Amino acid sequence: MRPDYFPEDIKPYILPEVRADLYYQCLGCCAQFPVEKLLYVCPECSQVLLIEDKNAEKLKDIPGRLWQKIFDFRRMLKIPALKGIYRYHEFIGPCIPLESIIYLGEGHTPVVEANDVLKEKIGCSFFYKNDGQNPSASFKDRGMASAMSSIKYLIDQGLVSDVIAICASTGDTSAAAALYASYLGPLIKSAVLLPHKKVTSQQLSQPLGSGARVFEIPGVFDDCMKIVEHLSGKYAVALLNSKNAWRILGQESYSYEVAQEFDWDMKDKAVIVPIGNAGNISAVMNGFIKFFNAGIIDALPKIIGVQSEHADPVYQYYLEPDETKRIFMPVDTRPSVAQAAMIGNPVSMPRVVHIAKKYNTLSGHQNVFFIQVTEQAIMDWQLCANKNGHITCTQGGECLAGLAHAVKNNIVSKTETAILDATAHAIKFSEFQDLYFKNQIPQSYKIKSDPDYINLPSLVMPDDPTMVPSQEKRLNKDDFQKFVKDISDKIAVKLNLKES
Ligand SMILES: *Cc1c(COP(=O)(O)O)cnc(C)c1O
Ligand SMILES: [Zn+2]
Repeated sequence: MRPDYFPEDIKPYILPEVRADLYYQCLGCCAQFPVEKLLYVCPECSQVLLIEDKNAEKLKDIPGRLWQKIFDFRRMLKIPALKGIYRYHEFIGPCIPLESIIYLGEGHTPVVEANDVLKEKIGCSFFYKNDGQNPSASFKDRGMASAMSSIKYLIDQGLVSDVIAICASTGDTSAAAALYASYLGPLIKSAVLLPHKKVTSQQLSQPLGSGARVFEIPGVFDDCMKIVEHLSGKYAVALLNSKNAWRILGQESYSYEVAQEFDWDMKDKAVIVPIGNAGNISAVMNGFIKFFNAGIIDALPKIIGVQSEHADPVYQYYLEPDETKRIFMPVDTRPSVAQAAMIGNPVSMPRVVHIAKKYNTLSGHQNVFFIQVTEQAIMDWQLCANKNGHITCTQGGECLAGLAHAVKNNIVSKTETAILDATAHAIKFSEFQDLYFKNQIPQSYKIKSDPDYINLPSLVMPDDPTMVPSQEKRLNKDDFQKFVKDISDKIAVKLNLKES
């Protein structure tokens, strides 16, 4: 819809006003820095940063009900810059002019209700939000649209040039980074570091296809991250890992969309996310806090972070109930089918600690929970979800395993509604499904294939295996008729078909 068609009370707000009120806030020494330069950690104490808004209080001048209306009407705009995560421009990056925003179709992913079979199995109502339907098929596009738009903004202002963007990745960050960088070529070139043989072949193909320089490194993600940190400390490169606070800011859009999708009613809702580097759960909590503070939602949903028992440092940290006694210890990961979350030393741990505390305080009670699940449960629940119409990856399976556990242990009640993050598309992780169906998942994962879930193709051959159509040698008409009848009869027997 054209801006001049909007109602009078919305018109002044339909196009966001650009204002330079953002700054980096250090979570260690509380120092503040301007966002107009590339910065990933505090130059004084090396702690991670968050981006804050000097103007946050003034956002309250617009009543929550009006914000809701603004965002609902903005949905109808056809301006590319405002079609993705920047629909919430005032909360996502008010200093970025619309011309600097990169939009590749990210955000506003479908929210799909579970069918009765699944609800029955789990014991409460729930939805998947399919973030695998983002352009590079994972939620990482949200943060990447934000990080790349911020770099484009600096380039457009003449503050940086010839940017080489780098990241370490469990597969999906590199796919997103390479995609957005390729769109901005030749202004930005990208290089990605991947743990050798620890990403799926689909994930490896993505940055290659986008033309990024791809480096495979022996070791796991945590080792790659150390190399990237070394490189970004010493050389002029733009870091695209979630250490980059712009990534967190962009990923907050997930919460804004959940709020909007449920008509701004977050009462009796639980939002479930898998945890790897812990950037996403930080962003999801922060997004709800910002909308709550601005009066756009009047309740904070329950937040549940899920980890595999093979990569569970955040869960381990929160096992200690006394907050003054908690000590963070990185863990050595073991092989996990939730491979995108297989991280032993999450970069955003200080953010989780800081934001979860704020979240619980604002909620007036414990409202953030951490759950550990088995590899078996992750795989079985992923397959179960997808057998019931979903398209979730293994990490989304991890969310469902977490919900099953939460309902069983009264962390989520039957009257609540859960929203699960399907963080990537199922086809990115189909290798694990293949191994499961062939009963070939290596022992170290500790997963046994349940015969009820196994599904394999059956090759149907005619009685005479030499009489088959091939591209080199077609069958003659009679032989082909025989072939069609023979195969059809065999399928009819297998499917127990009755003649019509
Ligand atoms: C990156 C990723 C995660 C983990 O998110 P963090 O922000 O690292 O905690 C989970 N699932 C998928 C599919 C991912 O790509
Ligand atoms: Zn500091």
